[in-house]
Amino acid sequence: MMEVCHERAEFSAACERARGEGGRVGLVPTMGALHAGHLSLARAARRDGADFVALTIFVNPLQFAPGEDLDRYPRTLEADLDACRELGVDLVFAPARDAMYPAGFQTEVRVTGITRQLEGEHRPGHFDGVTTVVAKLFANTGRCHAYFGRKDFQQWRIVERMARDLDLPVDVVGMPIVREADGLALSSRNRYLSSDERERALGIARGLRSAHDAWQAGTRHADALSKLVRQEVEPAFDRIDYVALASPDTLERVDGEVNEGVLLIAAHVGKTRLIDNLWLGVDTRP
Ligand code: AMP
Repeated sequence: MMEVCHERAEFSAACERARGEGGRVGLVPTMGALHAGHLSLARAARRDGADFVALTIFVNPLQFAPGEDLDRYPRTLEADLDACRELGVDLVFAPARDAMYPAGFQTEVRVTGITRQLEGEHRPGHFDGVTTVVAKLFANTGRCHAYFGRKDFQQWRIVERMARDLDLPVDVVGMPIVREADGLALSSRNRYLSSDERERALGIARGLRSAHDAWQAGTRHADALSKLVRQEVEPAFDRIDYVALASPDTLERVDGEVNEGVLLIAAHVGKTRLIDNLWLGVDTRP
């Protein structure tokens, strides 16, 4: 029987109990509106040997800037619970806003350096909101393996950094991006797309695919690789925030000839902002 809880104390106690029985806890933090990308993380937790898989659903207001989509972010709790039950998740923690941030809350967890560029530059304060809520989730879970998607590549690296820097008893694991058959990376925000926008959104997958092919054929020049993505994305999207080749460790941009890198992109189609990336030499063809 899957447990569902809404209070931090209940959640912590359930994780504690699972560990007390000798179980290993696998944690999957999400904002809900679950899709196959989220579910792949829960599956990975189980496959890696978690005896107790806990999935959290919380649309974290701290990581949305004024004017972003906090109010219209999709909330589909009943369907999410059904999907978790079907998958064999052990516990869903779905706190209300006040359960996470009771009156008087005034702490922020901030990672420096790796948070400054790319998403950090275009969404000021976003990662502070992410690390604050994830630090709380980690504190409430206790010792665990925590699963993050490489769809949010920079976020994964930042959370890993935070866990290491703060000596948190959490092993952070980054899992590959799950895509639709046509290459579109799954995202809760894909629900916002009209059919025309969804078609245009495929420019990202096409661009990443041609960069992948060029990499396989031996192209190593950062500008050449970025250009292949831009060529596909520019005509299809309304605005590009960035297309960048970055170090997978520091997320700093790299240029010239490179022997490793992640191609990252953020762009707007209509009112929807999409992000995607390709870890060259590591990820499969989008
Ligand atoms: P979100 O609900 O968007 O905050 O995402 C929760 C977790 O699911 C994050 O670790 C995301 O990186 C991950 N995730 C979202 N979309 C995908 C995807 N298409 N493939 C793999 N992981 C994903």
